Amino acid sequence: MKNTSPIILKGLPVSKGITMGMAHVIEHGNNIIEEKYIEKKLVSKEIKRLKTTFKKTLIELDIIKSKISPSIKKNIGLFLDTHILLVSDKIFLDSIKSRITENLNSSEWAIHAEYLNIKESFENIEDLYIKQRIDDVNHVVKMLLNNLIIKKNKINIISKSFNNVIVVTDDLSPADVIITYESKGLGLISEYGGRSSHSSILTRSLELPSIVGVKNALKIIKDNDYLILDGNEGLIFINPEKDLVKHYQNLKKSSLKKKKVLSTVLTKKNISLDKEKLEIMVNLELPQELKIISEKNIDGIGLFRTEYLYADRNDFPTENEQFFAYKKIVKKMKNNPVIFRTLDTGADKEIPDNVKTGAIARNPALGLRGIRYSLGNQIVFINQVKAILRAGHYGTVKIMLPMITNFSEILDAKKLIAIAKNNLKSEKKKFSNNVKIGIMVEVPSCAVLANRFAKQVDFFSIGTNDLVQYTLAIDRVDDEVNYLYDPINSAVLNLIKIVIDAGAKNKIPVSLCGEMAGDSNYTRLLLGLGLKSFSMHPSAIPEIKNIMISSDISKLKKFSREIINCDSLIKKNKLLAKINNI
Ligand code: PEP
Ligand code: MG
Repeated sequence: MKNTSPIILKGLPVSKGITMGMAHVIEHGNNIIEEKYIEKKLVSKEIKRLKTTFKKTLIELDIIKSKISPSIKKNIGLFLDTHILLVSDKIFLDSIKSRITENLNSSEWAIHAEYLNIKESFENIEDLYIKQRIDDVNHVVKMLLNNLIIKKNKINIISKSFNNVIVVTDDLSPADVIITYESKGLGLISEYGGRSSHSSILTRSLELPSIVGVKNALKIIKDNDYLILDGNEGLIFINPEKDLVKHYQNLKKSSLKKKKVLSTVLTKKNISLDKEKLEIMVNLELPQELKIISEKNIDGIGLFRTEYLYADRNDFPTENEQFFAYKKIVKKMKNNPVIFRTLDTGADKEIPDNVKTGAIARNPALGLRGIRYSLGNQIVFINQVKAILRAGHYGTVKIMLPMITNFSEILDAKKLIAIAKNNLKSEKKKFSNNVKIGIMVEVPSCAVLANRFAKQVDFFSIGTNDLVQYTLAIDRVDDEVNYLYDPINSAVLNLIKIVIDAGAKNKIPVSLCGEMAGDSNYTRLLLGLGLKSFSMHPSAIPEIKNIMISSDISKLKKFSREIINCDSLIKKNKLLAKINNI
């Protein structure tokens, strides 16, 4: 640790917890390739440089493959094999070499030009599957260029180990989070990002203390700086004094103690002081997370994000592959329900290379995502539904449709679900025939018409991450506007109330599975609005349950109404503090 006075940075705390350790800085960046030529006498030197780069990339790919833990190897391993094949391909290397010898291209330009050439020839291919192989070429080219271009702190993420360090990066991808977790990293700091981006959600699920939206982090934090990462307050101390380290060590100890005490509530019945029965479910997005939950302490999985099955690969998961994955989860949950959300690709969710979500996605959040993609790619959707229905034979499953914006999307999806059932019948496969079908209410149009939509579905789940984004017109992953991301904005609360009331009127269950459900600031407000079922990341459960069982809901209603109707931010926060301290 250095003895200079500490520099303090502030960002958006997205995953709670305190951690301390050395910084490890990685930069993703973007390479811009210029058209560049070399002198004839330098050709053999340039060829040598090129060959070294190919060798280095191949070694890197092998190392990456050997380091990925078995739990995520299957998905990532597939695309690695394709990449290894391409880097070892003699024709590919020879074509680049001849651009250097014949056209005197620099290695960088030769690789880029060869890529453009391959890309062009792929454009005339009609077979969609073969056409999509261009994405593999693109990944490999990026790796080769990264190895050619000498850049400080350049990213080489998968081959690194982040054991015992705090990862500091410009932009956090879900892969960064998984690899940091797998290699036992301490926490994450990112310049870019918002609270409800997928990467941030993953940090919470995996309990990795993390702060995003830290402006200029890469300019200020250097490798091996000693950091305190306060994921509760969003503070980062760089090279702090011993006293501050001691203070944080004590804080860490006492929060661990508090966590232990809180965990005792898990075995208690989830009933409010005024005897309302409440429900807590979990949100999961990776099967690895099943390890950290106990089916005894929760009422089910309220949101299983299925995108992981589609990520990091160039083909689609087969029906069987999905069935085996889902069945494992359903069996582990015994008879507690598992709500599988169908593929919600696009925008903040990592877009698998095989999923094309529109040629011009200038506003990907408003583009071909969620149910829109599924209805346009019916085979993909039907295969997934078949897998879920088959898993239903081993427990209780429900199907949840994401990004519903209008009535006909529900009807169209239900028709496809009926086709999936018919297919299963004629294929004589075992499946559950009475799987409930629900929708995510995460677009304002859906919330406004909830009373009408309720007649067509078996349950609602309010997705506040997107509902806030679409109601307030702010990109949920953009740190420039995350100061506007306000789940208790009156417009948002009004929509939540409409959905809760529509559920009660039509006698269908309403849950809330956005990040708001796991934020202890809002538990009593939501209880006061009439919400009975919360689905959250597992680490939030003890604190939220503790609040639930110590709440008298009958006393909260009046305050919740006042908060909805309040226009002054200061007054609203005062009311929130009041409701939280009743
Ligand atoms: C939501 O939008 O609130 C939600 C739970 O879904 P996701 O975060 O996966 O978009
Ligand atoms: Mg959503």
